[in-house]
Amino acid sequence: MSLPEFKLLRPRTLAEAVDLLGKHSDVQIVAGGTDLIPSLKQRLFTPPYVLDIRRITELRGTRKVPGQGTEIGALTTLTEIERSDYVRSDYPVLCGAAKTVASPILRNMGTLGGNICLDTRCLWYNQSLTWRTSCGFCIKKDGDLCHVAPGGTKCWAVFSGDTPAALLCLDAEVEIAGPAGTRRVALRDFYTNVGDARMNLTKNEMVTRVFLPERTAGYHGVYRKLRLRGSIDYPLAGVAVALKRSNGHVEDARVAITAVNPAPLLVRGVEKELAGKPVTEENAAAVGELAARTAKPLTTSALTPEYRREMIRVFAKRAVLEAARK
Ligand SMILES: Cc1cc2nc3c(=O)[nH]c(=O)nc-3n(C[C@H](O)[C@H](O)[C@H](O)COP(=O)(O)OP(=O)(O)OC[C@H]3O[C@@H](n4cnc5c(N)ncnc54)[C@H](O)[C@@H]3O)c2cc1C
Ligand code: SF4
Repeated sequence: MSLPEFKLLRPRTLAEAVDLLGKHSDVQIVAGGTDLIPSLKQRLFTPPYVLDIRRITELRGTRKVPGQGTEIGALTTLTEIERSDYVRSDYPVLCGAAKTVASPILRNMGTLGGNICLDTRCLWYNQSLTWRTSCGFCIKKDGDLCHVAPGGTKCWAVFSGDTPAALLCLDAEVEIAGPAGTRRVALRDFYTNVGDARMNLTKNEMVTRVFLPERTAGYHGVYRKLRLRGSIDYPLAGVAVALKRSNGHVEDARVAITAVNPAPLLVRGVEKELAGKPVTEENAAAVGELAARTAKPLTTSALTPEYRREMIRVFAKRAVLEAARK
């Protein structure tokens, strides 16, 4: 499949990139390109301009800021995150999630920013133009109906990135830059849970950095994921757990799920279930139940919604027990 025609813009600095975003209203950002390039080939996007941000060196790398936490540039590759000694020791849940993304070659190219901003996926959408033309277009692109929830007006395409579930557990924030300036938002407020408008980002804004607070450094973390091919696939259900213990009791805990809703979501009620107590089979199972109730899988993906929800329950329980043993 060939690429559609577009004009490639290649800024070398963030200021130049922001300037270009201000000048062109219909720009598609490309970072590692591991998700965007196949989508362009499938004609899911036909933008007149593509903004290649890979040359912006100031957006690469991981930096520990004493007293504040860790700052990760949006262009930092998933391989760099997986191999960073202090991400592994301070934020193990992020390292665990990063190393399950796709395959080693894709992680060498794929960036953290691209993983956070990943487009939502659906079996009826991530197809070639020929396939979509013969089957009928849908709300997400060029149509007005949903094959997954007929009669509805909402797109339920599923968020299928791994690292955002881990980042939610760590209370991460993202920095966003655009012609109107720079702002910082909590990752939990970044996603909309709407499949065809997945994030609170305007057309002329980009994600520039991720901040991990010092407060969550050292939390024990586990990431578990269901996928078809163990060596390369997107998650069909994913669970991240981060918890802090003291004297055998849970001091703080968070669980987030991905690949079963149009956004990665924190599971509510986990802290109440675990805080101040030792982790037991019973309260880990209760957390699994809360996670399964938060999951709303539909027929957007391979495997049945029932199985994917059940695996969220099973993974959440196992991940809580495993995190408590660390
Ligand atoms: C075979 C295969 C398997 C895969 N398996 C997985 C998997 O298991 N888990 C998983 O999470 N992903 C998977 N992916 C998707 C992808 O490889 C990763 O999500 C990767 O991290 C995307 O990063 P990227 O830099 O390549 O993003 P790109 O492809 O460059 O961009 C992805 C999206 O993010 C936007 N974007 C990128 N950077 C920014 C930014 N800084 N600001 C604003 N918008 C931005 C782009 O416009 C685009 O919409 C898979 C892809 C393939 C082809
Ligand atoms: S959930 Fe519905 S509207 Fe969204 S991509 Fe799938 S079929 Fe299209």
